Amino acid sequence: IYILGIETSCDETAASVIKNGHEIISNIVASQIQSQQRFGGVVPEIASRHHVEQITLVIEGALLAANLEPADLDAVAVTEGPGLVGALLIGINAAKAFAFANGLPIIGVHHIAGHIYANQLMQPMEFPLLALIVSGGHTELVLMEGHGSFKLIGETRDDAAGEAYDKVARVLGLPYPGGPAIDKLALESDDAVEFPRAWLERESYDFSFSGLKSAVINYKHNLEQKGGTIVPSHVAAGFQQSVVEVLTAKTLKAAKEYNVKQVIAAGGVAANKGLRASLEMTFEKEGIHFYVPPISLCTDNAAMIAAAGTAMFMDGKRGNMEMNGRPGMPLASWSK
Ligand code: ATP
Ligand code: MG
Ligand code: FE
Repeated sequence: IYILGIETSCDETAASVIKNGHEIISNIVASQIQSQQRFGGVVPEIASRHHVEQITLVIEGALLAANLEPADLDAVAVTEGPGLVGALLIGINAAKAFAFANGLPIIGVHHIAGHIYANQLMQPMEFPLLALIVSGGHTELVLMEGHGSFKLIGETRDDAAGEAYDKVARVLGLPYPGGPAIDKLALESDDAVEFPRAWLERESYDFSFSGLKSAVINYKHNLEQKGGTIVPSHVAAGFQQSVVEVLTAKTLKAAKEYNVKQVIAAGGVAANKGLRASLEMTFEKEGIHFYVPPISLCTDNAAMIAAAGTAMFMDGKRGNMEMNGRPGMPLASWSK
């Protein structure tokens, strides 16, 4: 089975061809990071314009790199939501046109299901499975009892982990996106400022990052009022320690409670070296299978959309030409 995946939910224009749900035949990502950096974040109108300029090139590029004709494909999978509506629509309309012109079925994929299925490109999923999703807009613990079955057991009550990284980076005067910059500073640091951990209630798998963000802002403010200056690497290291410790501990607790066979991490923040190391060490010690995709498959890409799309295709799921962008699309189970 060959599936073409298309992703345009935020600021990456991406297309990819996947064979049998796990083999990457081609994977093209056109990033807008350089232009977003000038504004310190994603400006929706600018993102949409970039997608319009790139989408055809990226789809043609994915087919060319795969050395395939449209007739070789079985379906087109496209991100239906969540994301920026104007950005989503560029990918969806391109997918509809391509599917219609080539007589192919179209499949609408949830962006976060895509992040989860990035793992399927590395090794088969084993259920029950616990997914830690940490991205620019989401921080969630999701329990999966089979393909297409998603049960939310915890989520952030305020900022997403990636959002916290981007906001703290701004406070430290680092460029957008903040995650990679903080990660690098934290790893190089020889000391760390002590910041609070947001454990919330003992039994809760929910997260909170806005208090930590405020603690960083207050720390900087107080020091500057006394005529001092912060050491950015020490702040970065302290912030990262707090985030990583809470994410690791709650994921471990949930993995044990639900007695899962496999734990996976997904989303842009799963590219974080400190988080990867902490999760790998913790689960290795516990003897629980833990996987995280390579960094290029953690951040937005279309291979993950094609991978999830293939699982949906095998479950008989088909979309139609009425498909619309769904900015607030919930992560609902698709099977049975
Ligand atoms: P969502 O997937 O929730 O819709 P998104 O698609 O914008 O949001 P992703 O592309 O999955 O998010 O991830 C982007 C986020 O990942 C940004 O907030 C970025 O700072 C963060 N990020 C990327 N690399 C790292 C890293 N090494 N450490 C921490 N955060 C990182
Ligand atoms: Mg992005
Ligand atoms: Fe994403």
